Amino acid sequence: MKVTVIGGGLAGCEAACYLAARGHEVVIKEMRGVKNTPCHKTSALAELVCSNSLKAVGEDTASGMLKAEMNRLGGTLLQLAQACAVPAGGALAVDRQKFSSLVEEKLAELGVTVVREEAVEEEKEGVTIIACGPMVSDAMARRLAQKCGAQLHFYDAVAPIVSAESIDMSKAYFAARYGKGEADYLNCPLDKEEYLALREALLTAEKAMLHDFEKGDVFEGCMPIEALAARGEDAMRFGPLRPVGLETPDGKRPYAVLQLRRENLAGNAYNLVGFQTNLKFGEQKRVFSLIPALANAEYLRYGIMHRNTFVNAPAAMKEDFSLKEDGNVYIAGQLCGVEGYVESMASGLMAAINIDRKSKGLPPFIPPVTTICGALCAHLTAATGNYQPMNANFGILPPLVGGKIKDKKERKRAYTRRGLADLEAAAAAQKL
Ligand SMILES: Cc1cc2nc3c(=O)[nH]c(=O)nc-3n(C[C@H](O)[C@H](O)[C@H](O)COP(=O)(O)OP(=O)(O)OC[C@H]3O[C@@H](n4cnc5c(N)ncnc54)[C@H](O)[C@@H]3O)c2cc1C
Repeated sequence: MKVTVIGGGLAGCEAACYLAARGHEVVIKEMRGVKNTPCHKTSALAELVCSNSLKAVGEDTASGMLKAEMNRLGGTLLQLAQACAVPAGGALAVDRQKFSSLVEEKLAELGVTVVREEAVEEEKEGVTIIACGPMVSDAMARRLAQKCGAQLHFYDAVAPIVSAESIDMSKAYFAARYGKGEADYLNCPLDKEEYLALREALLTAEKAMLHDFEKGDVFEGCMPIEALAARGEDAMRFGPLRPVGLETPDGKRPYAVLQLRRENLAGNAYNLVGFQTNLKFGEQKRVFSLIPALANAEYLRYGIMHRNTFVNAPAAMKEDFSLKEDGNVYIAGQLCGVEGYVESMASGLMAAINIDRKSKGLPPFIPPVTTICGALCAHLTAATGNYQPMNANFGILPPLVGGKIKDKKERKRAYTRRGLADLEAAAAAQKL
C-alpha cells in the first residue's frame, strides 16, 4: 500500500519504519530543509526539539512500561536510541545528532523516500498519516481544521498533576464550594503565613525559557500562576486560591485554598486547578511543596507552557488513529493529543500497525486498556469535557484488583507486569 507520512518527526519516522519494514511503499514529506518550524534547530529527521532524554526505563515507571510495550509491538526508534544512548542514570538519554543520523540511515535502508516540501493537504492516493507535530505549518493546520470540522484546539499552559497517594490527606479535605453539589474537589488550605510564603516563592522562582514565538499574547490567554501572583498580594486569593465557601471540616474559613480536581475515574491522580505554570520542573516541586498537603507530592506531570496544536481527538478520531470522516487519513504524534517524545513515537507505531492490518483485511489492534498504549488510545477517543493532551503515567491505568500493594515501587511494577502480560495475550491472539 502507498503510505504518505506528512512530518518526519518522532511519530512520522516511527510509523514509516514499521510500514516500510512490512513492504509498504512509504514517502515522508518533511518541510524542514525548505521551511523551518519556530522550535526545530536543524533539518534532521526525528529531531528532539528540547531535552535529549526519552525519560525513565525502569519497570516501576510509566515511561519504562511504555517502552517495554513498544519493544513488544515492533517499534524501531527506541532501539536506535539505545544504540546512541548517553549515561543518564535510570533514563534513556541520547546523543541527539547521532539519534537523528541513525533514524535517517534506517529509513534509507528500508527504502523510505524523503521529500522535502511543505504538504498542504493529505495525499489523494493511498493512505496518509498526518504527523506534523505541535508546530504544524499554518497551511496544514487550516486543512486539518477543515478535515476535523474546525476542531483544532490551542493551549498555552497546563497545570501539574500529582498522584493521589502522595497528597497528605491529614492536611486536605473534600468539599464543594458552599456545599453545593458533590464534594468532588480535594481542598488544600493555607494560612496567611503559608500563603505569603508561597507567593514570595512564586515571585522569585526560576522560569523555563520561552522561545520568541511563545511570548506574545500567551500570558493573557492562560495566565500562569506566577504571573497572577505578581499582580498583587491578594490576586491569587481572588482567583484559583479563593477560600470562600470552603470551610474546613472543623468549620473554620481558611485564608486560601488550592483545589485539586480528579484527573481520572480511578481517582489516583489530581490536577492542581488554576496552577498552570511556566516554572522549571524542579522549581514547581520546590514551590508547590509549600502548600502543606503537597509537601511530599509526586508529580505525574509537571505544568508546561508552549504553543500547541492538537485535534479534538474524541470528536474527530477513531481508536485506530484514523479520522472518523476519512478512513484513509490517520493522525499521529503530538497533533492527536499525546504528550511527549516517546508517547508521540508510540502513537505513530499504533497508527502504522493499524494501517498494515487494514491493508491485510485484518481488524484494528487496540492494546488492552491496562497498557499505557491502550490507555492513551482510550484517552484519545473517550475523554470527555475539555480535551487535553496526555502523557504516559500510571494514573491513566485502571486500578489493580486484589489486595493493595503497600510498597509504591512494587505496586508500579505490578501495573507494568499486568499490562505487559495483557499485551502479550492480546498481541498473540491477533498474531502480532
Ligand atoms: C518547545 C517544545 C519542547 C518540547 N520538549 C519536550 C521534551 O523535552 N520532552 C518531551 O518528551 N516532549 C517535549 N515536547 C513535546 C513533544 O514530545 C514533541 O513536540 C515531539 O517532537 C512531538 O513529536 P511529533 O512527531 O508529534 O512532532 P515533531 O517531532 O515536531 O515532528 C513533526 C514534523 O512535522 C513537520 N511539519 C510540520 N508541518 C508540516 C507540513 N505542513 N508539511 C511537512 N512537514 C511538516 C515538522 O517540521 C516536524 O519535523 C516539546 C514540545 C515543544 C513544542
